[in-house]
Amino acid sequence: MTDLIRTITLILFSFSGGLSGETWVSSEQKKLEATFVELSATENLTLLRENGQETSFHLSRLSNESQHLAKIRALEKKENEARKLLEKRRYFEAFKGRGVSEKDLENIITVRERQEKLEKIFSKIPDNFEARWPDRITLKKDYQISTQQPSPQRKEEMRSYIHVYESDHFRFECDRALTPYLVKKFCHLFETTLQICKALPLSLKKSQYQEKGYKHRVILTESDSDYYEFGGPPYTAGAYFPAQDLIIIPFSSLGVKYSGKKFTYDRKGDNKTLIHEIVHQLTEKTYFSHGGMGWFTEGLAEYVAAIPQQNHVIRLDTDFLTKHVKSYVCDGPSSSPSRRSHKHHVGRRLGTNIKVSSFQSFALQPYSSFSHPEDGNKNYGVSLLYIYHFLHLDRDRNRKPLKQFLLALKTGKTGEKALEALYDGRSEKELQKEIFTQWRKYGVNFSLERP
Ligand SMILES: [Zn+2]
Repeated sequence: MTDLIRTITLILFSFSGGLSGETWVSSEQKKLEATFVELSATENLTLLRENGQETSFHLSRLSNESQHLAKIRALEKKENEARKLLEKRRYFEAFKGRGVSEKDLENIITVRERQEKLEKIFSKIPDNFEARWPDRITLKKDYQISTQQPSPQRKEEMRSYIHVYESDHFRFECDRALTPYLVKKFCHLFETTLQICKALPLSLKKSQYQEKGYKHRVILTESDSDYYEFGGPPYTAGAYFPAQDLIIIPFSSLGVKYSGKKFTYDRKGDNKTLIHEIVHQLTEKTYFSHGGMGWFTEGLAEYVAAIPQQNHVIRLDTDFLTKHVKSYVCDGPSSSPSRRSHKHHVGRRLGTNIKVSSFQSFALQPYSSFSHPEDGNKNYGVSLLYIYHFLHLDRDRNRKPLKQFLLALKTGKTGEKALEALYDGRSEKELQKEIFTQWRKYGVNFSLERP
């Protein structure tokens, strides 16, 4: 599953605004840790101190360097606002003629602002790295499900309208009415994925956050063309847009079929694409930094999507899971029933002899190369085997190296610096050898492409 290139730039951009404070120096060389808020036309600067109090003063009271910094931050803010306007226009175009009001669009945009505030709240939730590995997760059987129908008057106004369904933690909107069975099916899928993410000791704080009224948003589109119209990237089966904290996914990726009268669920259809995108939605923003983006973020989404979800108990113990993961990556069905199927998560079909580049070059490659249509399928599969190694097979299985790596990302280390924490004193070669040796025990034969 590829995510939009644009979404990556959005992630990076939202970071540049600075979640944490920076150092401002006065013309008398006094220092202040604070976050930029705004610079007025009369050059009055407003900063947010670390104690949460705002402070305002004229720009000329700062050193030259800090004056320069304030001007850069002001420019970034303007750019950010322009970008929001552009996003709004894109949504407006997509929703045009569907009876969506300006106010609805405002709501879409404010989600992003809310998201930025929420990031700060998420960061206060304690890490759960020390929690025990959840060998078994017993799922909730019933969820609060609600359906919001548009008022008869609004229905009248609309050519087609948006149906809104809500479960405990998700709100999904659809341009067609869904049968109660389908609504229940999707709610179960959303909530199960959240429960798995919450139980994993990987500090996925968005999955732990619970506030009345706060829901993760998903838009389901009836047709593929609507999916592309909403901004779904070509050759993808679903996408997550971090800036709006929104998943968009077409019915064709959900096993939903139109039977001539109504939409039904194809039991043989698979929903791994949706699970994969939900994991992205629940993943910490910092894990998408250089060093984590790609091999870790995609590997994690693949990991959760590969977990068999049959009954109301999810098994995550190594004895059970290893063969499923291996089969998901290596076997997979041999036929491809639709043009989408090779991107659609029915397995990666990589076979058991896998040639790879060095771990570091794989982990640090640009996302555009990672998710390139030609290599994407293989890269996703390999990422899953790597993640699996760090979660289940590495060292004495205490996940210490992975934990160190994630903590490094959380504290702003990226690229090689973050990977160093993952190597945990091993050289890249030693680590690679360990991964190869572990997987060989289960019949997967990795080999290095010629350097
Ligand atoms: Zn993805």
